[in-house]
Amino acid sequence: MNKMSMDKKIIAPIKKDLTKKRKEVMAELASFTKEDKHAKAMRRPNFTDLGVANDDNAKEVDIYTTNLSVSKVLEGALQDIEAALKRVEKGTYGVCKYCGREINPKRLLARPVSSACVACKSKLQKSV
Ligand SMILES: [Zn+2]
Repeated sequence: MNKMSMDKKIIAPIKKDLTKKRKEVMAELASFTKEDKHAKAMRRPNFTDLGVANDDNAKEVDIYTTNLSVSKVLEGALQDIEAALKRVEKGTYGVCKYCGREINPKRLLARPVSSACVACKSKLQKSV
């Protein structure tokens, strides 16, 4: 029961692209964060130790805060990529999660992590 709803020719390069992006995002995260033992899936920025002066401490906190928001964005992106790759594996990639119709391949190429078609997305945005 391998129902392929999307053309393999479209999915193959997208899968490649997603896999590459996942690697990049993971490498970027690993470059300035470490895993948080308390929250399994979350990573925490490394603390930059600049010195002990008040000024240095303020800067350290600044850097940390910036890194924290960057890592949150990267983690969100990573989750989207993982979810998209899972859909590729399950053969549900390119199908709108709301209406079950095929998502326009042009939309997928522009935004490979899309899980909803344009019609559903705009409906959702209007209702918010
Ligand atoms: Zn839809």
